[in-house]
Amino acid sequence: MDYQLESIVLPGVDPVRPVVIAGPCSAETEAQVISTANAIASCGVRIFRAGIWKPRTKPGGFEGVGLEGLNWLKRVKRETGMYTTIEVATREHVFAALKAGIDILWIGARTAVNPFAVQEIADALNGMDIPVLIKNPVNPDLELWIGAIERVYRAGIRRIGAVHRGFSSYDNKGYRNAPHWQVPIELRRRIPNLPILCDPSHIAGKRDLIHGLSQQAMDLKFDGLLIETHCSPDEAWSDSQQQITPQQLRQLLSALVIRDMDRPSNNLAELRSKIDGIDDQLLSLLAVRMQVAVEIGLYKKANNMPVLQATRYGQIIEQKSDMAKSMKLDPDFIRKIMQAIHEESVKQQIKVVSE
Ligand code: PEP
Ligand code: MN
Repeated sequence: MDYQLESIVLPGVDPVRPVVIAGPCSAETEAQVISTANAIASCGVRIFRAGIWKPRTKPGGFEGVGLEGLNWLKRVKRETGMYTTIEVATREHVFAALKAGIDILWIGARTAVNPFAVQEIADALNGMDIPVLIKNPVNPDLELWIGAIERVYRAGIRRIGAVHRGFSSYDNKGYRNAPHWQVPIELRRRIPNLPILCDPSHIAGKRDLIHGLSQQAMDLKFDGLLIETHCSPDEAWSDSQQQITPQQLRQLLSALVIRDMDRPSNNLAELRSKIDGIDDQLLSLLAVRMQVAVEIGLYKKANNMPVLQATRYGQIIEQKSDMAKSMKLDPDFIRKIMQAIHEESVKQQIKVVSE
């Protein structure tokens, strides 16, 4: 599909990278919204975010202030001159946001996974002209992300941006949502003129990782950053661990190094990120594989079976070196890796059997 996109940069906003969107995860009170907005505006940020309908993992928590928050955002716009953006997840949200003069809408990660929900939003947007940012779905499914973009595009929206906020996985270690940089990089290859912003806050889950992720996004030529910022992060009603203060935001933005877009080092950064992402996946898969080996060990113990079954091992090595050949991988190299993995599996099994 040939996307005829228009710039998401609003009048008066510096078109130079990065476009910065900052604000609290959630609008909580009028005072919190206004004081955070004033402090953010004084950092030179031109677009203010705040969630007023919050998708929470479990019921019973704070689910956003709802419609009342729109009045606070109108006040932010009036008093600071910043543009405003909120998350929309239903048709009613879209209509309320448009009526309140919200400048940019975003579709959240939990909504982006659901084609029915995205279509409902796209239908509500039909014929409107407002920038729409589409976060990646929570699972690393590039086609689903592109599908959401396409639904919004087909509704006639031309100012579209993507937001990379990381991907959830069974055992997220280190990050709240694993970055899998290769996914947004591939998105850029597929839709080259689509602006991509990075949301390091939701990738990180904790504030000390936000700076490094923001720099990495810049090195990978992302167009902008969406950073959760709160006047007193530790007291935030949602995502408190990953929000930074306006003061920290100011420091982060002034320390960011924006490298010349066409320098070869950027391509190298891109390739290295791909490798890092792939290595992360290899490690996660190895961890899962070893867990399964331990379960097999427990099964063998319960059923009084020996740990090592030589015929099965021979078959595995044989199969994998055939597969390696068909994938243009050196069979000797794959044999070595499979041997090392098998040895470690046996070690793990012996450990559980003898416990
Ligand atoms: C948010 O931006 O606060 C949010 C809910 O993000 P995501 O959809 O990425 O989880
Ligand atoms: Mn949040």
